[in-house]
Amino acid sequence: MQENNNLNANPNRRIIHENDIEDESFEFPKFTQEMRKDYTILIPNMLDIHMSLFEGILNMSGYHVEIMHNEGPEVVTEGLKYVHNDTCYPALLVIGQFIDNLNHRNDHDKLVLLITQTGGGCRASNYLHLLRKALVKAGYGFIPVVSLNASNLEKDSGIQLTRKLIFRVAAAMTYGDMLMYTYNKTRSYEVNKGQAKELTYKWVDKLLDQFRNNKGTSYHDLKKNINAIARDFDNLEIDDSHQKPKVGVVGEIYIKYAGLGNNHLEEFLVSQDAEVMVPGLYGFVLYTLYNGIYDNLLYGRSKKSAIIDKLLIWYLRRREALMIKALKKTKFTPMNYFRRTKDLSEGVLDHGVKMGEGWLLTAEMMELVEIGYPNIICAQPFGCLPNHICGKGVMKKIRTLHPDANIIAIDYDPSATKVNQENRIKLMLAIARERLDKNGKADL
Ligand code: SF4
Repeated sequence: MQENNNLNANPNRRIIHENDIEDESFEFPKFTQEMRKDYTILIPNMLDIHMSLFEGILNMSGYHVEIMHNEGPEVVTEGLKYVHNDTCYPALLVIGQFIDNLNHRNDHDKLVLLITQTGGGCRASNYLHLLRKALVKAGYGFIPVVSLNASNLEKDSGIQLTRKLIFRVAAAMTYGDMLMYTYNKTRSYEVNKGQAKELTYKWVDKLLDQFRNNKGTSYHDLKKNINAIARDFDNLEIDDSHQKPKVGVVGEIYIKYAGLGNNHLEEFLVSQDAEVMVPGLYGFVLYTLYNGIYDNLLYGRSKKSAIIDKLLIWYLRRREALMIKALKKTKFTPMNYFRRTKDLSEGVLDHGVKMGEGWLLTAEMMELVEIGYPNIICAQPFGCLPNHICGKGVMKKIRTLHPDANIIAIDYDPSATKVNQENRIKLMLAIARERLDKNGKADL
């Protein structure tokens, strides 16, 4: 263990050494139910709107949650210091962000770190172990780490997934996707700068108020709120008199969504007078559930799990339909039904390819072209084989099917410079602008 100068000595603190954790019987510190009253749970940020809702929900359920927003070169430096340099970039960033955050605070004895695990065959399922090893090396091994996953990877955490919490999180995911979509549809065209963001967060506060009053999660409430969100954004004053390049962003989930991972790609695109579209979280969740069914069909995984997956798909598809129907009543082109998006990858990449983002990455690129975003950035993290295969590997085929597709892969790694990334994006935007109908009205 390395001595960490930032730590205030606590004589009762359990000291953990690197060779302790090699022992199979070693037990890492646990976060228990009793600790939830006075411990703060640190969570990495990924999707700003969704995370604001999730943070509010967890706080009203009796937890103290803090979403980490620390950024800067120290995050990468800490990641490189404590994670092996061939580890994929999202892991390096998340672990670096945790350690950098811990270096700047002194309440270590009242902290818990929360990390999500996909539970698939990809390396994301090992982030938990990588984080724990890094914490031990950095002298923070006494801080408990909780894994949030749907695959029973670690069951004994102090976070209780109650019915109420699950329904609230599912509703928040729907609202988050709807708000992210309407925000992206309007932010580049708003007449009064900042109004689209203000409206988005007004809705975040309103929804959290509803959750606090035990409302907002029923199908009826979702329908009412989603229609009201669509109406509010439809009424926002916008200037759509000129076409702007419409750019979609796909890629590995963390790099696609997290500003820390993609150097605030969405903000950069808006600053370049482009319209940006990022496919929602629904796609990833439905993709994971469909994979459960394919596992049953292709590899004989249990039938019972496949039935549960089918029920969850049915539940989510009803809510997805609410968003699409509400958007159809506005001037905005809605996203595709996921059923359609899924089918779009057929003939390009098999649904058996499901490590990491797998066939979803291909399907999202096809969807973006279909709904009017022919310019696509595939955010490519260092060390991510699935992204190379299902992103870069299928671009030629997509261009053959859609000659108007203007796709580029942008690499994100510790040594990639922001200037270089932005210059390549500017080149892509220049091609997009050449193809625009200069006198055309924006097609929202
Ligand atoms: S999808 Fe890519 S970046 Fe994510 S865990 Fe897998 S290899 Fe790493």
